[in-house]
This record gives sequence, C-alpha cells and structure tokens, in this order.
Amino acid sequence: MGNTEHVKCLIVGSGPAGYAAAIYACRANLNPVVYEGLEPGGQLTTTTEVENFPGYPEGVSGPQMMEDMRKQALRFNADIRTGMIVKADLSQRPFTLTDDSGKEIIAEALIIATGATAKYLGLPSEQKYRGQGVSACATCDGFFYRKQQVAVVGGGDTACEDAIYLAGMCSKVYLIVRRNVLRASKAMQERVLNNPKIEILFEHQTKEILGNNAGVSGVLLTKNTGEEVTIEVTGFFLAIGHQPNTELFASWIKTDDHGYIITEGKSTRTNIFGVFACGDVQDPSYRQAITAAGSGCMAAIDVERFLSENYGAAVETKILVQD
Ligand code: NDP
Repeated sequence: MGNTEHVKCLIVGSGPAGYAAAIYACRANLNPVVYEGLEPGGQLTTTTEVENFPGYPEGVSGPQMMEDMRKQALRFNADIRTGMIVKADLSQRPFTLTDDSGKEIIAEALIIATGATAKYLGLPSEQKYRGQGVSACATCDGFFYRKQQVAVVGGGDTACEDAIYLAGMCSKVYLIVRRNVLRASKAMQERVLNNPKIEILFEHQTKEILGNNAGVSGVLLTKNTGEEVTIEVTGFFLAIGHQPNTELFASWIKTDDHGYIITEGKSTRTNIFGVFACGDVQDPSYRQAITAAGSGCMAAIDVERFLSENYGAAVETKILVQD
C-alpha cells in the first residue's frame, strides 16, 4: 500500500497488557493504535475458565474476558487492527514500524505487549486435551483439580513452584523430570523433596496423554531404561519454560538470558527512550492476567508522562500522510 501514518502511541499485542494499555492510553487522549497480532486476545484465548481475575465473581471464560477488554478499549475509540507488525526500526524517534500490508507506522511512543508463549512438548494428545486437563498455567487452572491427582512436567523453578502450589490443593502431584536432577534452585528443590504429596519421577519422559470424553485420565511415561509406566491423573501441567515473543525487537531491546525484555526499576521503560514493555514479554515470574493488565496500565501512564515531558500536550496525532 505504501502509505505512512503518524501515531502518538502504538501498542503491539492484544492480551490483557495490550488492552489495558489501550484503555488507559485512550483515556489520556493518546489515540492509541493497537495491532492485535497473530493470536488476538493472547494466551487467555486458549484457556477455559478464569476464576481469579477480580471483578468476575462467577468466573468468566478466557475468550470472553478478552472480548470484554477489547470492547472496553473500543468504547474509548482505541484503533484496534487485526494484523501484525512485521518490521521495527527503533534506531531513531519517532520509530518506524511496518505492518503486514506494508504500511509504515511512525510512532512517537511504542508499547510492546507481545506476551510469551508457553512451551509444549509437541504431542498430538497434548493439543487434543488442551483446556480439558492439559494446562500451561497451574496458578490459573489448579483449582479445577482440587482433591485430584495431577502431574507437572519440568524440572526448573516454575515446575517446582507449580508442584508445590498444586500440592496445596490436590491429593497427589507427580513431577515428571527428564534428567536425574532438578534444574531448580536448591531452596526450591528442598521444598519439593520435603513435600509428602509430591512424587518426583526422575528420568521419565511423557510419551502420550491419555483421556476420554471427560478429559485427561492419565499419562503414559517412558523411563530412560525404555520401560513404560502409566500414571492416573486428571490434570497435566506444562512447566518446561516460556518463550517471550521478542523476535521483532530483538536487535534493539535489551533482554535477559531467557529473552524477557528488561524494564527499568518499577517502570515499564526499556533501554530505548520512548519504548515501553508490559505483560508477559517482560515478566518471567508472575505471568498472570491481572499482573499483565496492571503493567499495561503502567505502560500507558509511562507513555503519557513521556510524551508530555518530551513533546508537550499539543502533539499532532494520527496525521495520515499518503505517499
Ligand atoms: P527453565 O528453562 O529454567 O526450566 C525448564 C525445565 O523444563 C528444565 O528442567 C528442563 O529440563 C525442562 N524441559 C525443557 N524441555 C523439556 C521437554 N521437552 N521435556 C521435558 N522437560 C523439559 O524454565 P522455568 O520456567 O522453570 O524458569 C524460567 C526462569 O524463571 C528461570 O530463570 C527460573 O529460575 C525463573 N523462575 C524463578 C522463580 C522463582 O524464583 N520463584 C519461579 C519461576 C521461574 P532440563 O533441566 O533437563 O533442561
């Protein structure tokens, strides 16, 4: 298309962080443009019931909650676009980003809210029972399995933390670990080893998730000796790491060893003046809808302050410049 558009605030990503940022940015007169990306609504659209987000006393489905957030942003005239940003040039401000139709967006400020993607093992049965016993978020879904037997796969801090969390409500937790050691910190390892409800299955790999119409019923495991064993569980929790979605910005934005964007202190500021990050893309430890939404709010406030300090209140916005 070859046209160029100048915007005050560009938000990339449409999970709770992106939508919360959009709501706050709209109400601060920043006329945000939001690119929804590959998975509009983000990770929550792949979950079933959300019961821990304050304000929904009866719970709400993940997709419904994201639809509600989207509607709320639209109510304040957020310019939400289906599409992706495919190129970013952050070498100078305003920044130049290109969408998948070839349009260039010249942004005075940028909010990165592209989230993270939970890693899955890659088994067909895992996809089949996703949301029906297979979950990548123990904090979100553990409650549905109280007094039941569950399994967690992984040997890092997340897996151990999830196993401990689940042991607080489930009758038994199997921790499936592929090596003969845990990668988690020593303190976390001790907590797992001392928890009588957790049984660690070292040197076990998941071969298949078993189930029926009611969802997951068990897991077929292969020991490193080749022997196969089945465990009976109704919940299967993945905790083998997340991949923050930062490829687009990787050459510009500072990340930690795991690829999470580093933000400064309690702010959402990144290493580039005028670029802010919120939600799971910058959060290896909490990763909740409520914390993502909270940091989206922070990002919009940071942008508002940034623009008023750097451009004054009367910055012309969204001037459509046709080539
Ligand atoms: P990690 O990358 O640290 O650990 C991933 C775990 O999953 C490893 O044990 C790995 O096994 C295992 N794994 C990976 N792929 C597979 C597979 N295909 N099959 C079976 N197992 C697999 O990720 P985490 O999410 O645990 O942690 C990310 C970061 O966040 C870390 O720095 C961690 O310390 C931090 N964190 C800190 C917390 C805290 O301090 N409270 C809580 C949660 C996270 P292997 O060891 O064999 O590679």
